[in-house]
Amino acid sequence: MPRTTARRTKAVAVVAESHPPVVPKSRRALNFGGKWQYAPAPEAVVVKPDAQYELFIGGAFREPESGVYFPSINPANEKPLAKIAHAGGSDVDAAVAAARKALNGPWGKMPAAERGKYLYRIARIIQERSRELAVLETLDGGKPIKESRDFDLPQTAANFFYYAGWADKLQYAFPGRTARPVGVCGQVIPWNFPLLMAAWKIAPALACGNTVVLKPAESTSITAMHLARIFQEADLPAGVVNIISGAGDTGRALVEHPGVDKVAFTGSTEVGKLIAKAVAGTKKKLTLELGGKAAHIIFEDAAIDQAVEGVIGGIFFNQGHVCCAGSRLFVQEGIYSAVIRRLRDRIATLRVGDPLDKNTDIGAINSRAQLEKIQSLVDAGVAEGGQLLQTSCSLPAKGYWFPPSVITGVTASHRVAQEEIFGPVLSVLTFRTPEEAVERANNTPYGLSAGVWTEKGSKIFKTISKLRAGVVWANTYNKFDPASPFGGYKESGFGREGGVHGLANYVRLE
Ligand code: NAD
Ligand code: MN
Repeated sequence: MPRTTARRTKAVAVVAESHPPVVPKSRRALNFGGKWQYAPAPEAVVVKPDAQYELFIGGAFREPESGVYFPSINPANEKPLAKIAHAGGSDVDAAVAAARKALNGPWGKMPAAERGKYLYRIARIIQERSRELAVLETLDGGKPIKESRDFDLPQTAANFFYYAGWADKLQYAFPGRTARPVGVCGQVIPWNFPLLMAAWKIAPALACGNTVVLKPAESTSITAMHLARIFQEADLPAGVVNIISGAGDTGRALVEHPGVDKVAFTGSTEVGKLIAKAVAGTKKKLTLELGGKAAHIIFEDAAIDQAVEGVIGGIFFNQGHVCCAGSRLFVQEGIYSAVIRRLRDRIATLRVGDPLDKNTDIGAINSRAQLEKIQSLVDAGVAEGGQLLQTSCSLPAKGYWFPPSVITGVTASHRVAQEEIFGPVLSVLTFRTPEEAVERANNTPYGLSAGVWTEKGSKIFKTISKLRAGVVWANTYNKFDPASPFGGYKESGFGREGGVHGLANYVRLE
């Protein structure tokens, strides 16, 4: 081991020992978890969701024909936040008809530059409302406020700004061709980035002149309905975007609807496969963004502290509810113990708790079902011989929580190395040679993203050219920009969202 590494390790250990995790019992409920005590820092903006949310169809809010509503809860305290309308078959019909009418009406006839103006207007209103939207996102989904505030909302606005710019420049995206809209787009999104996924789907579709019916995930519909209000406020013509809440049956009715020309889905591989089957043999265009089992590769020559920090962010960010989460860590053998020591010390400082506290690093798991899935996979990891490193932070009695967890001694055949956990759980494996690292990193049914950590530029290029992953970050992780395409290989789906590539999903070229 190089001497510098040994010295740094020692320094970390000393810091950790001089700050024992003493948290007075009386304050644990306010700010549990983490090695150091922080005073509570609650978000100052208080937003109360409405008691009830309706469907947004043809530019207006209306009750579901069946009169059925379902609750959305706050996963941090299990309390119901609002009643959400459940769209049934006739509501889906109405939404698709409204989208068709808008396509054949004012929206389809509008000059592209005018379409762009609407997108700019929407982006600006999102920016103006971003604090309130961030609070609602955190309440309904459980993610820490510092993430919804500093990541989700700025990225949501940035995607509308970015695609606004493309609306009247499609001839430069597809030189020598004429780009026509595909038509009515049925879009189904998951609960991990509710507003951002809506932006990824809606913004490029509108820039290319399509109309949309969007179905948010059942546990996180509130911000989608606030986005609908923003569309109203921006005077977006009626029916250009319709938002119908509901569960899997609503999603299925939408993607199977004969009036839909294009289907875009982000979510589980299981549902993605069902959708691929349902769409096969129809004229519908399809993009699927499914799961991932991303690998980080840390080479011996990497800046270890920086790498560990990137790995920590890459898996514990947003409770690991990230399809590109770096859930497998491959460490070159010579630095194995140094990396494990740093991981252990660093997870002890992560604060798990109240998502509305500005100091919280890890918020609530989105649902009970997701929590149970994470727990059962971690149990399987331990049963198969992995060693579990967890922080000893106390978790509140109410709500869905999982402490940041590292499983060492994992081998390629273990379930935790193969299956998507979608939670704050990192599996650690080792390798000897760069060839072995690439081979083992590629040994998964997924291929969405990866991270490479080394000081040698040539090694970065050599490694990334062999990794079967749609996005590879080098010496950083989870960096997003609306101009960068995102998407995967193999069971991670097909098609690319973002950037100029993302436009291709929403045009027919003549
Ligand atoms: P899911 O795939 O069931 O849900 C995603 C969306 O699809 C939701 O809006 C849901 O209502 C809808 N849906 C469900 N069944 C449908 C159907 N038959 N036809 C059309 N739409 C349908 O995902 P989930 O159950 O919420 O999560 C399960 C697992 O999926 C997670 O544990 C995680 O591994 C993975 N996941 C991946 C992503 C991602 O970004 N790739 C996001 C969320 C979940
Ligand atoms: Mn909820």
